[in-house]
Amino acid sequence: MESTNKKAELLSLTPDELRALLVSLGEPKYRADQIFPQLHRGLSPDAMTNVGKITRQKLAEAADYHLPRIEQKLVSAIDGTVKYLFALADGNCVESVVMRYEHGNTVCISSQVGCRMGCRFCASTIGGRVRDLSAGELLGQVIAAQADMGERIDNIVMMGIGEPLDNFDAVVRFLRLVNNEAGLNIGYRHISLSTCGLVDKIDELAALGLPITLSISLHAPDDETRSAIRPVNNKWGVDALLAACRRYYGKTGRRISFEYTLIAGKNDSVEQAEKLARLLNSRLRSKGDSMPIHVNLIPVNEVAETGFVHSGDAAVRAFAATLEKRGIRATVRRKLGPDINASCGQLRRAAMKAEGEGDGEGRKGTF
Ligand code: SAH
Repeated sequence: MESTNKKAELLSLTPDELRALLVSLGEPKYRADQIFPQLHRGLSPDAMTNVGKITRQKLAEAADYHLPRIEQKLVSAIDGTVKYLFALADGNCVESVVMRYEHGNTVCISSQVGCRMGCRFCASTIGGRVRDLSAGELLGQVIAAQADMGERIDNIVMMGIGEPLDNFDAVVRFLRLVNNEAGLNIGYRHISLSTCGLVDKIDELAALGLPITLSISLHAPDDETRSAIRPVNNKWGVDALLAACRRYYGKTGRRISFEYTLIAGKNDSVEQAEKLARLLNSRLRSKGDSMPIHVNLIPVNEVAETGFVHSGDAAVRAFAATLEKRGIRATVRRKLGPDINASCGQLRRAAMKAEGEGDGEGRKGTF
């Protein structure tokens, strides 16, 4: 039987969908149980030795299997961090970074080609959003990084290029696929998703009850400061965002971590640290519960186009100490791969510049 649909993308299919596809090709559905795990380990149908030639041919005709191709790979001589510039099937590029910690390997993946959130300090948003990634392309980054490293990936952070909650359906499909026991089987508790604060989507995510860790890119203790660096704050202000965090915690019981990028002279004073501590304590802990709060302080990575300068060590330490004094755990993010420009967006940006500027949607922030 011939499928009239557009070609399926094998890495985006759930086991049930793969079964249905095989049945539509006249194959027994148990074949899906042989094929699904292999796809997720990086084998294309033609490389599968336990599947007959005819089945492989039918699959290749009905569906695509693409892993991101390594366009560029940089390895830090300092800490072993590996940064990939991956080319997708249509030639667009995204970045993924593998960080090597004592507790295992963590991959940071991209969720969109570019980004339309318009954050002023971020390299990924300068050319706007070109397109969303599919679930298979999200998963493909993990599979390709794992295959290239020859080591298991233990943790995933969705903190690369793009806003994951602006690509909600593909991201949720990806979370379920990567968690599947027959696939990579990475536990939800080993996955973090970082968002600039799309409140409606935070609620949608909470409703699904997946016990992933949510990271909120807060970066400011009040609306005025936040709106000046993140256009999204004009739609959902700090109060609305923190109320969504409370609801998320209420539904999932999962600790939320806050990212705070320190920019010299913008958001890094001790007064702003005091204000942040007051804000978090009053909005998140006011009702007698002891919601654990963790703030990750990230000295801003300087991106040529933005003109923002990172805070000095003394300012970073004073900021962290002020939060701790007020009962908020704060850690200063160690800069990984300092010799390979490992913060996301910058490698793709360099490649785009070499080819002429990109032309995505929403360069100034669109919601
Ligand atoms: N869109 C999502 C995830 C991608 S950005 C989000 O906003 O969270 C991942 C993190 O890197 C965010 O906390 C973001 O604010 C931060 N970031 C982006 N550009 C940066 C830069 N130049 N220096 C430091 N942190 C940056």
